[in-house]
Amino acid sequence: MFRLDGKVAMITGGSKGIGLGIAQTLGRMGAKVAIASRGLEDLEKAKKSLTEADIEVLATQVDVTSKKSVDNWLKEVIDNFGEVHILINNAGTNIRKPLVEVDESDWERVLDTNLKGVFLAGQAAAKQMIEQQTGGKIVNISSIFGGVGSSFQTSYAASKGGINQLTKVWASELAEHGINVNGLAPGYIKTPMTEGWLNDEERYRGIVDQTMLKRVGDLEDLEGPLLLLASDGSNYMTGQTIYVDGGWTAK
Ligand code: NDP
Repeated sequence: MFRLDGKVAMITGGSKGIGLGIAQTLGRMGAKVAIASRGLEDLEKAKKSLTEADIEVLATQVDVTSKKSVDNWLKEVIDNFGEVHILINNAGTNIRKPLVEVDESDWERVLDTNLKGVFLAGQAAAKQMIEQQTGGKIVNISSIFGGVGSSFQTSYAASKGGINQLTKVWASELAEHGINVNGLAPGYIKTPMTEGWLNDEERYRGIVDQTMLKRVGDLEDLEGPLLLLASDGSNYMTGQTIYVDGGWTAK
């Protein structure tokens, strides 16, 4: 039920951090993976590590804030792999600032990457899945901050709250095409995005104390829930966002 042999998965932001972990997870279960991000060096490193793990990979330079770039990526994936069955909307960024210091460019950068990027990739993949008539799985990577109120997250929380709503709206629209749309909302996971904050001992303690399990997460902690949402294991689930946060939001 969790095997993905013959499936093609597109992963935005697949060059490092959570996205690369997801590419490894899906690839190990038999999927061909198409990873996309802007930085060429990270993409090449990711491609090498996936290839060394015997995973069939297509690595493409894509900016998810550009419709043209996302549409070209989809075309390249279809030219190389024929179809697409799984989209993981993972590319994201964060700027932590108090409300009064957030400037327009901060807001635009975070909303364009995290929310417009999800819209563009989701729309492109959904059109393709509908045309193929194969059904599919779309997984939107959200965050605990899409649900809970927390300081210094103005633009990030707005983007992730928006993603949670897109998950529900798309689930409703795409159900008739056999496409399940769910979200995965991690708590703090050690990645290039968070390592600076997690290296600050005081902040690290504060974060760990918010969790019931008294630790931050590793990439491996996301594997099982992600695989559930990307596979036939979740055929009767749609419109849900699963929190993988060590109990942070259950308190
Ligand atoms: P990283 O910063 O480690 O990786 C982000 C990835 O997104 C990189 O591959 C980056 O590549 C890519 N990316 C960023 N902007 C764009 C863009 N405009 N177009 C294409 N690709 C882009 O972040 P994480 O792995 O930590 O986070 C991944 C996702 O998980 C994000 O959506 C984040 O909000 C979410 N998340 C992370 C948590 C954590 O604790 N780490 C907790 C909760 C949610 P490049 O810059 O080269 O384009």
